Amino acid sequence: MRKTYAGSCHCGAVRFECDLDFAAGTSRCNCSVCAKGRFWKAIVQADAFRLKQGADALVDYTFGSRSIHHLFCRNCGIKPFGRGRLDEIGDFVAINVACLDDATPEELAQAPVRFQDGRNGAWDSPPAEIRHL
Ligand SMILES: [Zn+2]
Repeated sequence: MRKTYAGSCHCGAVRFECDLDFAAGTSRCNCSVCAKGRFWKAIVQADAFRLKQGADALVDYTFGSRSIHHLFCRNCGIKPFGRGRLDEIGDFVAINVACLDDATPEELAQAPVRFQDGRNGAWDSPPAEIRHL
């Protein structure tokens, strides 16, 4: 069921809302930036995301093709979301589900997780090893 969740970085400078359905799935990726940040995400369309506060606190980190914007709080260093555009889904926001303040432990525990082999550019398939992600 699609619900509206409130999220924030650690210090609270950055606050957002998003509409998402955990049953639609979450994902973890082994690419260089997701692996180091232990990023657990839920992808939503850009119009299902609302930045409520803290645009001025966000630092935009990009690398490689610079097509994905990895946004983190300049004060506390937490990455509450990233955003970008892909041909398949258009403008999207990758929500850090660990930053959702009102998602219950049960909702998080029951959310399906899809593993992605981003390290090899194969986001549609899982890597050979997923236990470390
Ligand atoms: Zn912060």
